[in-house]
Amino acid sequence: RRTPLIAGNWKMNLDHLQAIAFVQKLAWGLADAKHDVASVEVAVFPPFTDLRSVQTLVAADKLPIAFGAQDLSEHDSGAYTGEISGAFLSALDCSYVLIGHSERRTLHGESDEQVSGKVRAALRHNLVPIICVGETSDDLEKHGPSAVPVAQLKAALSGITSTVDIVVAYEPVWAIGSGQAATPEQAEQVAAALRAVLVDTLGEDVAQKTRILYGGSVKSSNIAGFMREPNVDGALVGGASLDLNEFTSIVRYQK
Ligand code: 13P
Repeated sequence: RRTPLIAGNWKMNLDHLQAIAFVQKLAWGLADAKHDVASVEVAVFPPFTDLRSVQTLVAADKLPIAFGAQDLSEHDSGAYTGEISGAFLSALDCSYVLIGHSERRTLHGESDEQVSGKVRAALRHNLVPIICVGETSDDLEKHGPSAVPVAQLKAALSGITSTVDIVVAYEPVWAIGSGQAATPEQAEQVAAALRAVLVDTLGEDVAQKTRILYGGSVKSSNIAGFMREPNVDGALVGGASLDLNEFTSIVRYQK
């Protein structure tokens, strides 16, 4: 049984002071609701400048909230102005790092090769990469539902063969921030195709352990439908992760 993961991608929202207040309230909300983190794992992905504050708060109060960064450099150190090394994220106790989010791919021109370099960088520093894949509505029309996400995942995993700890996030670009989520059936169809890629590249054992998340207009009113699908093991939540009540309700989708 894979432990479900509900991850909040804050994108470029909340400074470090707002982050402290938000994470503290989120922890109180989960405690009030007697949320069992062993049954559903919760993670947040704040901007880089918030990570030290979040780390300090989580460690001081032993909060049951994991955290990670939204991106990292494919390099470990050197003359890369503005970039952040996986070594730094690891030193801040990040568990996860998002890689290849569609906004990085489209707004920052991240290629499949860079995504694959970043996945290898994350693994070098003991960070669990959350590899984001997804098709645009154009891709969907031209190539059908799973061709582009499958190709992106294969590229992201190129050169990786050994047993690794990764998470895959399927986020159809047309569903991100649009209010138009995929249906649970659509998410399941692509998630199953992505799991087949994991079987081929990393073997049955790793494939069965790897969590595949759905992302794109997830809210408290549609989360349960996704979580009923056998190959969907959680959600990567954008907008709704910034609303405490919404995010807490998403985490508590079984209730
Ligand atoms: P929304 O939940 O706002 O659609 O964003 C999804 C997303 O991009 C999470 O990474």
